[in-house]
Amino acid sequence: NSTVYVRDLQKIYPSAKGDVQAMKDVNINVMENEFVSIVGPSGCGKSTLLRMIGGLDTATSGKIVIQDRDIIGPGADRGMVFQSYTLFPWMTVGDNIKFGLKLRKMPADQQEEILNKYLKIIKLEKFRDSYPRELSGGMKQRVAIARALANSPEVLLMDEPFSALDPQTKADMQLLMRQIWQEEKPTVIFVTHDIEEAVFLSSKIYVLTQRPGTVKAEVPVLLPYD
Ligand code: ADP
Ligand code: ADP
Repeated sequence: NSTVYVRDLQKIYPSAKGDVQAMKDVNINVMENEFVSIVGPSGCGKSTLLRMIGGLDTATSGKIVIQDRDIIGPGADRGMVFQSYTLFPWMTVGDNIKFGLKLRKMPADQQEEILNKYLKIIKLEKFRDSYPRELSGGMKQRVAIARALANSPEVLLMDEPFSALDPQTKADMQLLMRQIWQEEKPTVIFVTHDIEEAVFLSSKIYVLTQRPGTVKAEVPVLLPYD
């Protein structure tokens, strides 16, 4: 069974100047431990699709099921990472990563264990007491990824997470993301307009058409490290 199951999704944004149909008939299936990318031209509805799966926006029709539950609003079962850093600026790196665990009132020693594990994965052990403003863009994105993964989400939703980074940092982040996926096997839905990035990272790619976006192709990717 799929972890994320999207059926006949349609999104129409009402507007005074006429409705905008952002997507129609979108069907996707994401299996456990898959790394799925969504690619397509600008404006085809990639962000909209991810926001709906994240529960930040509602579909006009169709359905989204995560592990057999119809989703209603956002939830800790879905971790989200956006293009621009959404860390809490008044919290240290450590407190940012532990945020969801604190909300769940997890015992402090377990929080520490999880924090240390992810600080190590993102190679920021020395920065646990730093504030976001002291970090580079790539480092902030690493913290955002750690914060999302620390909650053990059923699916990690990533919207152009590396698009704002310089080319070298972007390449480093892609390598790190691939390493995380090989080691931890999170289920990921990754939105990007960068087809090379999608091929490098994914086990499957959905290609959407121009707006209104619909699935044009579902492409399995043979990973060199399978
Ligand atoms: P169709 O309606 O086109 O026959 P299915 O309903 O058979 O499609 O679903 C296709 C895939 O989606 C199957 O792999 C199935 O396991 C999965 N699936 C169907 N319903 C759900 C659900 N409620 N939750 C998770 N996965 C589902
Ligand atoms: P992508 O991420 O593929 O670039 P988006 O999901 O951001 O595409 O947008 C899909 C389409 O929906 C675009 O044409 C965009 O202008 C439109 N759109 C997105 N958000 C809104 C909104 N809040 N109100 C009206 N139109 C919107």
